[in-house]
Amino acid sequence: MSPTDPVDASVVLSARGLTKSFGSNTVLRGIDLDVRRGQVVALIGPSGSGKTTVLRSLNGLEVPDGGTVSFGGTGTFGGAGAAGRAGAGTPLALDFGATVGKRGIAALRDRSAMVFQHYNLFPHMTVLKNVTEGPVQVQKRPKADAEADALRLLARVGLADKRDAYPFQLSGGQQQRVGIVRALALKPQLLLFDEPTSALDPELVGEVLAVIKELAEEGWTMVIVTHELGFARHVADEVVFMDGGIVVERGPAADVLGAPQQERTKQFVKRIQ
Ligand code: ADP
Repeated sequence: MSPTDPVDASVVLSARGLTKSFGSNTVLRGIDLDVRRGQVVALIGPSGSGKTTVLRSLNGLEVPDGGTVSFGGTGTFGGAGAAGRAGAGTPLALDFGATVGKRGIAALRDRSAMVFQHYNLFPHMTVLKNVTEGPVQVQKRPKADAEADALRLLARVGLADKRDAYPFQLSGGQQQRVGIVRALALKPQLLLFDEPTSALDPELVGEVLAVIKELAEEGWTMVIVTHELGFARHVADEVVFMDGGIVVERGPAADVLGAPQQERTKQFVKRIQ
């Protein structure tokens, strides 16, 4: 697209040339990523290829050394069909080659919500408090509204009766469903999942994947780091294969997973299936 073209309103996220090193370890070597509204993008690749670092960079949990991240201004906050969140609809563009500052990072964090591999729930808070903490403390939404939203979302994932439970009283699958609800309650433009099922016992994986699949069908925009290639093939619109801090191959899920072009992708897909 040339600079004079109208901004494509369907683009939620556009990242260009992301680089990141930890000391002498260069982890991202120029990553580009585009995500359109309602699209599900799966990030796959061997352990250590930089997938989690990409995700964390999109959410301001890591600050890239260089590159840009922009969020579109017209994407629905809170997913298709959900009640939106006021005052968050302006475009955002950050250039990590320049100083981004705390306000830039805070603005970036406001755009997306992360679901973590190890759930990262607050152990000393009830389920309800875990879900309402961000909306009330960070987004300054009225407590009664946040609680009503939280209870509606908990009911959706079959956990209404766990509102007063503490994380240690829940199974891993239940904790992760709370983790997902906590992310949804923030009404983000983009949901980020970091290997959401890899810490779960095999019999609990299905219940979490089912919730993610429903969210995809509802039109939420998401980026998912996953080793579940069967799931990625079912749910993702686009698959991005990373290795050694670069994107080796990307395209429709059926192409990248079913008929990969690059040798490294072929090896990876063959090994993991
Ligand atoms: P993946 O998600 O593909 O397994 P990661 O993004 O987690 O890859 O990690 C890529 C590389 O970056 C690994 O070598 C990892 O050890 C390193 N790394 C990730 N986070 C940090 C950190 N906070 N400090 C130092 N090294 C890190």
